[in-house]
Amino acid sequence: MFRNFLSLLALCTMSVLTFAASDHTVKSPNGEIVVTVSENDGQIYYSVSDKGTSFIEKSALGLVMDYADCSKNVSIGEVTYAKLSDNYTVPTIKQRTVSYEANGMTVAVMGKFKVRERWQEVEKDVVMYNLEFSVSNSDVAFRYTIQRPNGDQLLAARVLEEKTEFVIAQGSTTFLCPQMIPMTGFAGTAPSYETGYTPDEEMGKNGWGDGYVFPCLFRNADKGWILISETGTNGSYCGCHMKNINDNKYAIAFPNDKECNGNGKPEPGVTLPTSTPWRTITLGSTLKPIVETTVAWDLVKPVYKASQEYKASRGSWSWIIGMDPSCNYDEQKRYIDFSAAMGYETLLIDALWDVQIGRDRMKELVDYAKSKGVGIFLWYNSNGYWNHAPQSPRLCMDRSLVRRQEMKWLNEIGVRGLKIDFFGGDKQLSMQLYEDILADANDYGLEIIFHGCTLPRGWERMYPNFVAAEAVRASENLHFGQNDCDNEAFCATIHPFVRNTVGSMDFGGSALNKFWNADNKTGNVRRTTDAFALATAILFQSSVQHFALAPNNLTDAPAEAIEFMKRVNTVWDEVRFIDGYPGKYIILARRIGDKWTIVGINAQKEMVVPNVKNFSEFNINLGDKPTIYCDDVKTGALVKKDFKLKKDVLRVEMLSGGGFVIE
Ligand code: CA
Repeated sequence: MFRNFLSLLALCTMSVLTFAASDHTVKSPNGEIVVTVSENDGQIYYSVSDKGTSFIEKSALGLVMDYADCSKNVSIGEVTYAKLSDNYTVPTIKQRTVSYEANGMTVAVMGKFKVRERWQEVEKDVVMYNLEFSVSNSDVAFRYTIQRPNGDQLLAARVLEEKTEFVIAQGSTTFLCPQMIPMTGFAGTAPSYETGYTPDEEMGKNGWGDGYVFPCLFRNADKGWILISETGTNGSYCGCHMKNINDNKYAIAFPNDKECNGNGKPEPGVTLPTSTPWRTITLGSTLKPIVETTVAWDLVKPVYKASQEYKASRGSWSWIIGMDPSCNYDEQKRYIDFSAAMGYETLLIDALWDVQIGRDRMKELVDYAKSKGVGIFLWYNSNGYWNHAPQSPRLCMDRSLVRRQEMKWLNEIGVRGLKIDFFGGDKQLSMQLYEDILADANDYGLEIIFHGCTLPRGWERMYPNFVAAEAVRASENLHFGQNDCDNEAFCATIHPFVRNTVGSMDFGGSALNKFWNADNKTGNVRRTTDAFALATAILFQSSVQHFALAPNNLTDAPAEAIEFMKRVNTVWDEVRFIDGYPGKYIILARRIGDKWTIVGINAQKEMVVPNVKNFSEFNINLGDKPTIYCDDVKTGALVKKDFKLKKDVLRVEMLSGGGFVIE
């Protein structure tokens, strides 16, 4: 009896100890961000705080595998810590060279599993998965590395459900973009990340019924901001999004079963062991860490070597103003001349070129462009059995066999890159298609832009010939509807905080036409100023940009605007957030070498006059004479002037739909 009591006591002490020991924390190098992992009733939880403020409350973690439900009846095993660092260069993202420093924590999650030993099965405590955390001074990233539960007997599995939750601090508001309902929209091409945002919306809604696309921005009342996303996704997993469970509880969601015309499963199939994509959380008391984050690239690695040096470029694009009829030989020749006149390196020829120009004459056109120093990007339809988008060329990119033949021809005639449109969704088979296209294209030296597509998830670093993706309600909608023109500035002030901060964004804007039409007299009216157009060329980040400029702009747009757009830069060494609020205004600075360019745009009804301070931070000193492009506040016309910096503060006036650029 006494012995039994002793062992009971030991058990109690042990369970108390186990409970205390089951709280494991990892902090950012500066100690401000704290991630706590705990176990309660056989479930694993985590929470995230910054400077003592809770951003993610106790939230469940776990995976349901086809061979075992690893989200319950589990416990914490060995916990190990590591210092993580990486120095890397990706010339095509917002910051060319990144020094990543983080503290790592790996938590083994144990479960019971029947393991065959000789001639019998015995239940053993085994590592089901490792939770890997990486915490830098602005970001938390974590992923599951799923183990083989019984040695070499189980090599393949399906992840039926990922129970990763994000319980957002009470009182937060949302800046979210609803996931589109599959097989809706143009020719069944949804979801394609092309819906809009409602700023400062209350929590507890679930978009249009299918949650929200990454990245997801929340304002933690007046305490700070948090951006949730994922990175490192390739053909080994599906693209995820976020669903609302209730109130402030959100969770990872797999794609809708109806995506891709119902083909393929939403749940990913994996080989064991395997790592899921990283779930990322960027947070801070201001929006600065969110605009400047590099978390999308910090933890991914290149998956193949570049077959050649891929270079940034600027270009023109007839379709955005002239639509389908403009994709003919003569008009494209005129646009090649226009790109050459602008000093641009490329021209993008959009849909229907195979019919309206023809393959034989395309070679002539590419040769002509080459004689003018202009490279050609060609549009392709990605489909395929996944939707009904009819635009040709079709059936050239959907299977490796035809794709490689097509790319061989493209390489032979000297095409520089492709814009591939109308993808089927986020299921694993679609993510595999993205990766296969990129890998094949690298074999033939082609740069790739995706449209009608998913969010890129670290792809600039993973795939060196990946340039940018649309995955945004882009400039085409300005041509399609006046409502989008009326909301242009509002949307533009959101992208730098959300979509564009985690991946290069092919927006195709900076129009100088007053009307979205080739005659520049009819059609939808542009509501933004020319200073706004110049500012967004810098604000929207993508190393390859095809601007919505037209040859007539050489004579009908302000000479100062054309002069600026001729020398506009699309690659940057650094970005620095200055001021702003999603949906209202934004001011940021980008650096190349020792030269900073400061840009701002405004969407508010009233004119905003923010103070831009600390110019010395941007290598502009008292007595210097920087150049400013801004709005004439009476007429909205573009004004270019040099001003002498007398104080270390500048008041810049912006109209609603206006902006400025300081060089
Ligand atoms: Ca589109």
